Amino acid sequence: MEAFVIGSGPNGLTAAITLARAGLTVTVLEAQPTIGGGARSAELTLPGFTHDICSAVHPLAAASPAFAAMPLADHGLQWIYPSIPVAHPLDGGSAVAADTSIDTTAARLGSDGASYRRIVTPLVRRWRQLLDDILAPVHLPAHPLLLARFGLLALPSAATVARKRFCGESARALFAGMAAHSIVPLDMRGSAAVGWVLTLAAHAVGWPIARGGSQSIANALASYFQSLGGTIHTSHEVRSVRDLPGASLILCDVTPRQFLRIAANRLPESYCRKLERYRYGPGVFKIDWALSSPIPWTNPDCARAGTVHLGGTLDEIAASERAAWNGESCERPFVLLSQPSLFDSSRSPAGRHTAWAYCHVPHASTEDRTAHIESQVDRFAPGFRQTILARHTMSPAQLESHNANLVGGDISGGASTLRQLFLRPTASLYRTPDPKLFLCSASTPPGAGVHGMCGYHAAVRALRT
Ligand SMILES: Cc1cc2nc3c(=O)[nH]c(=O)nc-3n(C[C@H](O)[C@H](O)[C@H](O)COP(=O)(O)OP(=O)(O)OC[C@H]3O[C@@H](n4cnc5c(N)ncnc54)[C@H](O)[C@@H]3O)c2cc1C
Repeated sequence: MEAFVIGSGPNGLTAAITLARAGLTVTVLEAQPTIGGGARSAELTLPGFTHDICSAVHPLAAASPAFAAMPLADHGLQWIYPSIPVAHPLDGGSAVAADTSIDTTAARLGSDGASYRRIVTPLVRRWRQLLDDILAPVHLPAHPLLLARFGLLALPSAATVARKRFCGESARALFAGMAAHSIVPLDMRGSAAVGWVLTLAAHAVGWPIARGGSQSIANALASYFQSLGGTIHTSHEVRSVRDLPGASLILCDVTPRQFLRIAANRLPESYCRKLERYRYGPGVFKIDWALSSPIPWTNPDCARAGTVHLGGTLDEIAASERAAWNGESCERPFVLLSQPSLFDSSRSPAGRHTAWAYCHVPHASTEDRTAHIESQVDRFAPGFRQTILARHTMSPAQLESHNANLVGGDISGGASTLRQLFLRPTASLYRTPDPKLFLCSASTPPGAGVHGMCGYHAAVRALRT
């Protein structure tokens, strides 16, 4: 049986591996000259500085059952674990942090420490079982009581959870930073879910980076796929599935908008209309820097963290996320920053450093956010601007031209609203009305992130046909 996978993102490659392992002859077709989709790295600023173009930090890859079942270390993938997964500085020089240790994290949260420990400990203890249910499409849960416990925390809005569970600004701010990865307003129902998954992951598996850059993840997946007999063609954009006539199966690592472009002639109008209603979310504006020295953080914990959340209090972060969702500009955007060269010397020349940051902006926004992002870094690291040797910026439109899946700069493959957390992109999930055609991108459950689980579940369903 001959199968094609359109797109070589982490989900496309995982789908291809799953099909190849089942004995199919599999070809991956990638539009861009290099493989990896959202897991690619390049010298964006100066010679010798390697930057992650999209994803940089990988709690979900570390958690992924699909990746765990592959010999990726044998194919060159090495994880590096920063000693603090996430730090979150506050005005006045203090900081909270999600340490790998629950106790250390709780100790920094003052009177909220006990509550944090009470919530997080039982879920971290049963993390693997929880993953069976949350990194999968809606199904009869394997561990219903555990999932119900998680659901009570995850289904409300992040702002409600933060205010109800914590009394102090520090714990509320820490949770708001985690939940803002969802790229939906923090007062929207379900916005707590991503916050808890990332919080639990910090303790259960850490927030690792890939040695050499995120490209190493794609390269390891591709190398394993090729060892199974698979073939990859780059610079091969599929304009219509009609161009793949002999295929028994076609798995599409694309979002609904491109799927309609390449396959509408094989789909009934009613299904096309549902795909047209699929909602995309805000975009991002991203900066990569080459730096002359480490970022001069006021709080020393920030210098030990792989990721730093820059946005101050819950109220401030909530206002930033609400503005991006409403199509408005925000003076003090919530900034997500990663500083990989502190932990991986291969990223920059000796003594020099790299940093990666982005903030959420309105869908397809054309506004240059460089000054706003750099002000937020400078707020918690005075003197930061003086360390900049070079910068590279990407607007939503530039991100989309780098990877067609980043529609309007949306890095999640579609908004993670409560409905679209579960029913992505339609209630049929991976299946389409054409029995040979499947969707396998982050626009299917469990959604955004480098984990390959969308590709895995799509391929398992395709193999059942
Ligand atoms: C700026 C940014 C930061 C991010 N940070 C993180 C992070 O730190 N951690 C994390 O886990 N996730 C992060 N993500 C999200 C993560 O990158 C994505 O969720 C993930 O890559 C989705 O994988 P995918 O396989 O579904 O799609 P993608 O990785 O987007 O891959 C899709 C591939 O399909 C190709 N393609 C599209 N159309 C066609 C066509 N017609 N023909 C052929 N090929 C086609 C594209 O070129 C692309 O290579 C980030 C994303 C961005 C953009």
